[in-house]
Amino acid sequence: MTETIPDAAPDLDFDLKVLPKVSLHDHLDGGLRPATIIELAEAAGHTLPSTDPVALGEWFRESADSGSLVRYLETFDHTIAVMQTKEGLFRVAKEFVEDLADDGVVYGEVRWAPEQHLQQGLSLDDVVEAVQAGLEAGVDAVAETGRDIQVGQLITAMRHADRGQEIAELAVRHRYKGAVGFDIAGAEDGFLPSRFRDAFTYLAQHNFPATVHAGEAAGLDSIQSALVDGRALRLGHGVRIAEDITIEFEDADEAGADADIFDDEVSDTIGMVTLGELASWVRDRGIALEICPSSNLQTGAISGFGEGIESHPLDMLYQLGFNVTINTDNRLMSGVTLTDEFELLVETFDYDLDDLLELTLNAAEAAFLPLEEKEALVEYINEAYADLG
Ligand SMILES: [Zn+2]
Repeated sequence: MTETIPDAAPDLDFDLKVLPKVSLHDHLDGGLRPATIIELAEAAGHTLPSTDPVALGEWFRESADSGSLVRYLETFDHTIAVMQTKEGLFRVAKEFVEDLADDGVVYGEVRWAPEQHLQQGLSLDDVVEAVQAGLEAGVDAVAETGRDIQVGQLITAMRHADRGQEIAELAVRHRYKGAVGFDIAGAEDGFLPSRFRDAFTYLAQHNFPATVHAGEAAGLDSIQSALVDGRALRLGHGVRIAEDITIEFEDADEAGADADIFDDEVSDTIGMVTLGELASWVRDRGIALEICPSSNLQTGAISGFGEGIESHPLDMLYQLGFNVTINTDNRLMSGVTLTDEFELLVETFDYDLDDLLELTLNAAEAAFLPLEEKEALVEYINEAYADLG
């Protein structure tokens, strides 16, 4: 990380951990506890870069931050290696839920790719069931501590592989047993969602929702394909939709070349904002953007907009009325929690409680939940925020 995450929100004098949160984009194989990796690796005979939990955690963060895609991808070799048995999958899923609850998450969607967990002979159905059992055990363990959390699986296909149809059928087969949606992940550039057009059509015919990673490592073509071929109701990251937005200052001299049109101090010099047709579609139709601020900085997804987290277009998108949600992506690799990401926004963009509430309600409303459950979630979040105010 090139930016340091502040320890506490400067303008909010309480621990943001207590805020009820909704997590829509968090990978199961990117959120393991280092100590658990060490124990499972020992049992599996898998060699790790370190067998000290603190050093291993640092190794993950440094590798993810190295700027080397090879090193970044190597981190997942280690987590996936210890998730090849029912016991390993169960434990990782259970602890994942407990860690989300400790972070204040009350509803979470957990994404992962079953096809990556078959190395020791388990079937696709076996691994989905093992993860579901772990998630349910996590929910029970959280309930025993007097808190509530609800979780669902986002069944993911790897976009460089060719199992899209099989994975789509797997997701639909488990729709009443924990699966709430479908996604494709992995190498975005060069692997457009159109490769999985048939699988997405199958999902649509079964009225099964999809979110699609797009607009992270690739640009507008990838987003267009996610929406058209993938029929995406949400975009994984989607941050590069900002490339379809142009801002021209009416008086460039007055505004200054790098003036922030949304900064109060320069509000007299409002720029002309023009949205392309794709950006208009995403904004006007309320397609949710699953923004992961720290991850976007690490992977270079936002490098086209400037350096540092302050150049992340999420604030511009939010101010323009896009359906922005905030997520973690890979808590282990980025070394973050959702609470950390909220603190980062408070520190960087001066967000207050109203902003955090709006971002959280955006996520609740974009959740792949039935309407009644979504309304109950929204009500719960509103009441919790009202109690704080
Ligand atoms: Zn992701």
